[in-house]
Parts: sequence; structure tokens; C-alpha cells
Amino acid sequence: NLKKHFPLKSKKLFAKDKPVLKAVDGVSFSVQSGETLGLVGESGCGKSTTGRTILKLLEPTDGDIHFKGENIATFRGEKLRKLRKDMQIIFQDPYASLNPRKTIEQTITEPMKIFNITKEERTKKLSRLLDVVGLSSYHKQRYPHEFSGGQRQRIGIARALALDPELVICDEPVSALDVSIQAQVINLMEELQEEFNLTYIFIAHDLSVVHHISDRVAVMYLGELVEIGDVHELYQNPKHPYTQALLSAVPEANPHHDKQRIILSGDLPSPANPPQGCKFHTRCPFAEAICRTEEPQLKKVSATGQMAACHFVEEVEEVVNS
Ligand code: SF4
Ligand code: MG
Repeated sequence: NLKKHFPLKSKKLFAKDKPVLKAVDGVSFSVQSGETLGLVGESGCGKSTTGRTILKLLEPTDGDIHFKGENIATFRGEKLRKLRKDMQIIFQDPYASLNPRKTIEQTITEPMKIFNITKEERTKKLSRLLDVVGLSSYHKQRYPHEFSGGQRQRIGIARALALDPELVICDEPVSALDVSIQAQVINLMEELQEEFNLTYIFIAHDLSVVHHISDRVAVMYLGELVEIGDVHELYQNPKHPYTQALLSAVPEANPHHDKQRIILSGDLPSPANPPQGCKFHTRCPFAEAICRTEEPQLKKVSATGQMAACHFVEEVEEVVNS
């Protein structure tokens, strides 16, 4: 039930209900060790905020974050610092996230320095990291501007792996790259996941990339989860009208498969003033009266655990193996 609300400026100084932007508004999901959970939705739906709040780069407004058996939502100080080793982030724009005045060596070894890893170990680790991301030690005295976008993202990945994390939040790691480079970086990330037993939360708006890399997928709309499930099941049989619309826009390679494109009416409402009831009702082609007043809860909609939040999707009973 993770929440991250941001206060908004209000003209009414003493207003009882201070206006807030509910960027993440009661999201619950789990990620298993070694798996990749894709997190999708339009920009502004709260994907990045969810990722950053899980990492505690943002302080959660409410809710719990369980990591390896502990509720880290309230971690502070030294406890939080130690956690930084286990959880890392790869940013969307490798250019903006690398310090232009630091060499590649400085950039990648900096996190190791903070954790008092010896010079000798740092040097060893650096050449291994450069090697696994497909760069050479020969590059280590160079600066970010001397590299291409794809190479810079490899540097960002090497830095994220410097402390042997278990969970890596990938915030649109390839969306700033040329399409021809995207596949290389995705392949690299998959190889590294195998090699280092990494768990990924992969945030993206490109549904083809998410299809390729994810084991499970979660769909967000205006700060809430509207659907979650196994990647194949969800892509083949999306249950929530919003997921259906998103997927209908993905181009298909098969020209004989005539897919009906669902065009959503209207713009994405402001998260500062979301619609009542089902937040999707202003754009949903199937909305009825109940959708404007009652908020649908996430419920199990398939025997294998797919879940969706819509009044008109039938709930499926838990299948008990006896
Ligand atoms: Fe559409 Fe109603 Fe379902 Fe919301 S609850 S997705 S508005 S049909
Ligand atoms: Mg984002």
C-alpha cells in the first residue's frame, strides 16, 4: 500500500485539506529474487516515483516496503546507508546522470570508496566491471563526453553494479538510446542478470521492450496499479480496458493479424485532481455509472494470478491444489 504524495502550493494558507499530488497512491506488488518485473504506463503515471520510493531516494508518505524480510520504509541513517549496497538504480539519461568532470574510473569506483573498499580491490573490480559491460580498461581515464550514448549507458550500468546489488531499478534505461543500440543494451542487461543473479524492476513505456525482458508486468494509471500478471498471459489476454488500449497500440510484425486499435478519448487527467471512482472512467470505452462513484479494487482475474482493477472483469476463485 505504498504512497508518495507531494504537497502542492496553495493560495489558501489555512485550508483544511492541503492540496497534494498523489503520484503513487496505494500500490502493492511483489518481486521475486532473480525475476524482472516490468512497470509500464503513460508518463506521469507514477512509475519512476514508485521506483525511487522503493529505493528510498524519496521518503514514502505511507505504506511498507519489504526487502529481504525487513520493512525498510522507516530505515534511516546507517541502516539506510547499508541498504544502498543492495539496491541500485540505472537512470534513463546516461548523459545527465554521469558527472562530466569525473573520469570513468572515478565514476565507477566512487560507490566503492564510500563503502571503504580497498584501492587494490577497487582496481580489480573496475577492470572486471568494464569488461562485463563491454568496455576496456583503456577507457578508464576518459570522460563521459568521449563516449556514445550506448557506451555511457554501459558506464551507468557498471556503476550500478559496483557494489554487487541484488535489486536494480532500471528507470527507462534504453529510451534515450537509438533503436539500433537499444537491443545491445537490453541483451547486456539480460546477460548481467544471469551472471550476477540480479532482480530487476524495469520501468518503461516501450511495451515491446517490456514484453521482451519481463517475467511479470505491472500496469500503472494515475498513481495506481490497474493490472499485474505473467508477461505472456497479460500480453495475450489483457483484462483491464486500459491495458487493452495500451497493447492495442503496439505495432505487430504480422500484417495478416488485423488488430483493432483502441483509441482512448481525452487526455490523461491531472494526478493533482484525479477523477473519482475508477480513475480511468473519463477515458474508458466501457465506463458505466458505477465507475464514476466506486473505486474498483485489484482482484484475481485468472487462475494463475493475473490481477486487474475493474468493476466489469470477473473475479476468479483461488485454485487450491489439493
Ligand atoms: Fe472502465 Fe469502469 Fe472498468 Fe474503470 S471500472 S476500467 S471505468 S469499466
Ligand atoms: Mg519516468
